[in-house]
Amino acid sequence: MDSNEHRIKIAVQKNGRLTEHSLDLLERCGLKFTQSKDQLFCYGENMPIDLLLVRDDDIPGLVHDDVCDLGIVGLNVVQEKRLALEHAGDEALYKQVFEVDFGHCRLSIAAPDGAEYSGPEDLNNKRIATSYVNLLRDYLKKNSVQAEIVFFSGAVEIAPKLGKADYICDLVSTGGTLKANALREVGTVLQSEAIIIQTLKPLAASKQALVDKILQRLDGVLQVRESKYIMLNAPRDALEKICALLPGSEAPTVVPLEGSSDRVAVHAVCRENVFWETLENLKSAGATSLLVMPIEKMLA
Ligand code: ATP
Ligand code: ZN
Repeated sequence: MDSNEHRIKIAVQKNGRLTEHSLDLLERCGLKFTQSKDQLFCYGENMPIDLLLVRDDDIPGLVHDDVCDLGIVGLNVVQEKRLALEHAGDEALYKQVFEVDFGHCRLSIAAPDGAEYSGPEDLNNKRIATSYVNLLRDYLKKNSVQAEIVFFSGAVEIAPKLGKADYICDLVSTGGTLKANALREVGTVLQSEAIIIQTLKPLAASKQALVDKILQRLDGVLQVRESKYIMLNAPRDALEKICALLPGSEAPTVVPLEGSSDRVAVHAVCRENVFWETLENLKSAGATSLLVMPIEKMLA
C-alpha cells in the first residue's frame, strides 16, 4: 500500500530564498522528513509525502509533467513557465491553490540613473535585459511597445554597464541591488510571492485524499498566521459596539459571567492582527480583562 503510486511528491526549492520558509511551512503541517541538505529527495517519515528538492525554475515543469503533485514556487516563475508553454502552443497543467505570504518581490523595469523615463513608451526601440523573456514580452505587447529583449540568465543588473542593454527587467524586493548598480525602478511588470501549485491531472482516489488533507492543513496553517484568539469581559449593553470593533471576527461566543447579570465574557477568533489601538478602543467601549492569544492550529 506504501508503494510509489500511493505517495505524493512536493517540489520545493533546494537552496535559495524560498527553501527555509517552504520547509518550515510543511513542518507546521505536521510533516516530518529524513533530510540531508545535499539530497534531491526527502522521504516523508510520518506520512506518504516526499519532497523533491530542485532549482525553483524546474518546479512548474515538474508539476506540469506530473512528476510532482504539488510545488511551492514564486508566482514569477509559475507565470513565466505558463507563458512559455502558451508560446509553444501548449497549456500549463497546473493551477494555483494558495498564496503563502513569503518570497514577496516584484518583476520591475529599471533604468540607469541618468536615463530618462516617463512611461513604457520610452522603451520603444530600446534593448531590455531580462531572465523573464516571456513575462517581459507579454508586458511590452500589452503596452504596445516594440523593443529588443536581451536574455541574461543571471546578473541582469550589470547588463547596462556592459553596454548590452538600455534597461533591465528583473526581480526587486528592497531595491538595494538596483541602487548598488546605479539603477532605479521605473515600472512594475508583476507583483509576486511564493504560491502553491497543484497538478491538474486527475489523481487516484487515495492520492487525491492525501492531497486534500495536506491542502486543508496548509489552509489551516496559513489562516492562523495572522489570527488571534481574543477574550474579554464586556457590559451586556455595549456588546454590539464591542463586537463591531473586533477585527475580522465572525460570530463571537458570548458567555454569561457567574454572579453578574449585566456583564458577559466574549471569546472571538480574529483573522487579522490585533493592534494596541484596537485593544485601547475596546477598553474605551467598556471592555475589561482583555487577553490576546496566538492560535497554533485551526481546522475549519
Ligand atoms: P535556483 O538556484 O533555485 O534557480 P534562484 O537564484 O533562481 O535559485 P532565488 O534568488 O533563491 O532563486 O529566488 C527564488 C525566488 O524568490 C524568486 O523566484 C522570487 O520568487 C523570490 N524572491 C523574493 N525576493 C527576491 C529578490 N529580491 N530577488 C530575487 N528573487 C526574489
Ligand atoms: Zn532559479
